[in-house]
Amino acid sequence: MNLANKIREIQDFPKEGINFKDITTLLKDKEAFKYMVDALSEQLKGLDVDIVAGPESRGFLVGAPVAYKIGAGFVPVRKPNKLPGETLRHEYELEYGMDALEIHKDAIKPGQKVAIVDDLLATGGTMLATAKLIEALGGEVVSMNFLIELVFLNGRNKLEPYNIKTLIAYD
Ligand code: 5GP
Repeated sequence: MNLANKIREIQDFPKEGINFKDITTLLKDKEAFKYMVDALSEQLKGLDVDIVAGPESRGFLVGAPVAYKIGAGFVPVRKPNKLPGETLRHEYELEYGMDALEIHKDAIKPGQKVAIVDDLLATGGTMLATAKLIEALGGEVVSMNFLIELVFLNGRNKLEPYNIKTLIAYD
């Protein structure tokens, strides 16, 4: 299956100059959706993953079905003030300004093995912030898995030495 063909590109979204990779066209295609979940799950074989964590919001759409498929739990990592319980926050720098992500303090037990799954790797900032939250709770980040990698943004450099796997690379 050529998954890249199922992803729609939208020019100048959300801002001028950005060529947005729209995965909704893949998600609504039953064969492509299944293929994506199966392929990402395959990458996690043998890692003994307890929890799949997904950053808001497309990480929920991709991560939760992978968690189900591999028999792991799912933990959402959210934008500030969305989670109802006690949270831990990690702030991180964007190109212009700051952003933050939160996790429930009781979401992960020390020593649990966590795979983080998201739709797209760009600069790596979202994934690194998610990893910091998991590690602050004592979790072990055993894998980072993405549907798409924008190779030219060098997100992998920021995420060294994590175990990173992607299904589709755009050069
Ligand atoms: P990073 O933190 O690696 O710079 O950006 C990755 C995050 O931004 C991911 O959570 C991803 O959902 C979102 N993102 C950035 N650009 C795109 C894009 O073109 N398409 C999609 N689907 N998500 C994007």
